[in-house]
Amino acid sequence: MESIPHAISWNLTKKCNLRCKHCYIDADAQQCFKSGSEAADELTTSECFRIIDQIAALNPRIILILTGGEPLLRKDIFEIIKYAKEKGMTLFLGSNGCLFTEKIVTKLKDCGIAGVGISLDSLDPQSHDAFRGAKSAWDGAIKAAELCKSHGVSFQIQTTVTNKNISEIPDIVKFANDLGATAFQLFFLVCTGRGQGLTDITPQQYEDTLVELYETQKQFQGSMLVGAKCAPHYKRIVFNLNPDSPLLKAYDGGCPAGTNYCRITSEGKVTSCPYMDTPVGDLKKSEFSEIWQTANEFAELRSLKLKGKCSICEFKSICKGCRARAFASNNDQLAEDPWCLYEPDGSGNKKSKVEIKFKEEDVFGMKAQFNMPWTDEAKERLSKVPSFVKGMAIKGAEKYAKANGIEEVTAEVMKAARANMGNDNKAMFPFGKMFKKKGNKDEVAGGPSDDKETTAAVKADEKLHYIGDGKVPWAETAKKRVANAPSFVRPGIYKLMQKRAAEEGVSVITSEFLSKIRNESMMLAAGRMKKFGFEDLKMEVFEVAKNRIKNERKKEVIDEIKGFLDQRSDKNSKIISLFEEYLKPDNS
Ligand code: SF4
Ligand code: SF4
Repeated sequence: MESIPHAISWNLTKKCNLRCKHCYIDADAQQCFKSGSEAADELTTSECFRIIDQIAALNPRIILILTGGEPLLRKDIFEIIKYAKEKGMTLFLGSNGCLFTEKIVTKLKDCGIAGVGISLDSLDPQSHDAFRGAKSAWDGAIKAAELCKSHGVSFQIQTTVTNKNISEIPDIVKFANDLGATAFQLFFLVCTGRGQGLTDITPQQYEDTLVELYETQKQFQGSMLVGAKCAPHYKRIVFNLNPDSPLLKAYDGGCPAGTNYCRITSEGKVTSCPYMDTPVGDLKKSEFSEIWQTANEFAELRSLKLKGKCSICEFKSICKGCRARAFASNNDQLAEDPWCLYEPDGSGNKKSKVEIKFKEEDVFGMKAQFNMPWTDEAKERLSKVPSFVKGMAIKGAEKYAKANGIEEVTAEVMKAARANMGNDNKAMFPFGKMFKKKGNKDEVAGGPSDDKETTAAVKADEKLHYIGDGKVPWAETAKKRVANAPSFVRPGIYKLMQKRAAEEGVSVITSEFLSKIRNESMMLAAGRMKKFGFEDLKMEVFEVAKNRIKNERKKEVIDEIKGFLDQRSDKNSKIISLFEEYLKPDNS
């Protein structure tokens, strides 16, 4: 199968204002920073542009993670972001946060950055500063997070787990959520670069931390993505704890190094991932596509011809082990991952008869295939989606359309499907419009909500109620909201919510879930109104709708809604403005 790069980490510079103990770059960075000198072999601006052109020729909808060193130390960083953005790429910046100012965040936003990753290794400022090798590094990181939040720039907090902070992880996750982060990512050390001399956590601690992370993330479902990086066997752990977990979405084949992902160094060398030092090509001499398509090391990684226990493991298709750890320990990138505790007993697939695989609809980078008609507008909208989720977005929109008896995927259907996906615990994408963080105006996942209790989780003291013969219980707040709705729509709401809760595997109907489904319904209704030729809210739309409906009971309900709205003296301005928003022709 042809491999396409869907994400690239680019270490744009070795220069750094900090000296982190674990840094894999291992440059004499501070000297470089102090003297203000450019590294002699660092790619120039025009070389960066040329490489971006070459990547775009292969995949313009790629995710580009610009990092360093400290990428903000490159004078041309904004030019590079802008240039790549104009090609259609989705840009993220990995930073220690210490150089963030109002001006920088504003510029990042103006250039179209999709999100920022800020490193935070402890809640104790002194420990963080010691790990990062500079005083006030903690203050800098927090200030950066606050600036991002106030300017509406998505950010994720990323923590590297070590012996020193291992007990702090659940507290750091909570802190990240309180800061307003869109995501929290736990990074596991791969002992290369300056981190080579560090004592990594043991395989048992690694395993325990991943189990704890899985438990911790449950509290933040729908609010903040909590994930693990450089820990492919997290998928095995998640699968064992919950084979239906929405966290089981990833590239087919596990660790994406060299298959869907690679790293570019500041000098233009290509490696399989940031923790693998061996260059497989040099962009100063060869085109990106040539390296991507012909490097032997990449071909080997794509072959799935693993060795040791990884070769007989039933989880290899969703895990594959960390190839960098395999290489660091065995000098062989196909060797088993020595940090994994799991012992397949040799019967592997033969015993279970099935190799464990992701569900087809949960595979990143799946082929984009249309199975039903799409409008041009919907296709245009789809063309802006990052490539790794394009196939999934098609599947999601078509599934949503079919479930709702819709025969053609329109932009409205896509919006509704996105809202459906973005706010529930299946949300996997930390940045971008698909997964908006609560708190920012117009950025609440699934659309603005008219109630203040928009946490996905049920409050500890909140009562649950079963209504009628519905199988899924209602949280008290959600139940009260529906009790205030007119009697003729309540049965429909109860029925719809049970149906949608069952479809999405939701265990409690919360107020937030209620808002999400309402917003979806409103988007669909707005789409139909637009089709009828209405661009704003007018009562005549009900007559048009009635004329097109054959079902007598539905006609009666329309009359009841009309009558109710006519009599109502207090208008729900939030709902009206939400409707008007969905009706805008350029709403996307
Ligand atoms: S080799 Fe390891 S660090 Fe690199 S992408 Fe794979 S899991 Fe992550
Ligand atoms: S044995 Fe290898 S493939 Fe299996 S879970 Fe462990 S690291 Fe993953």
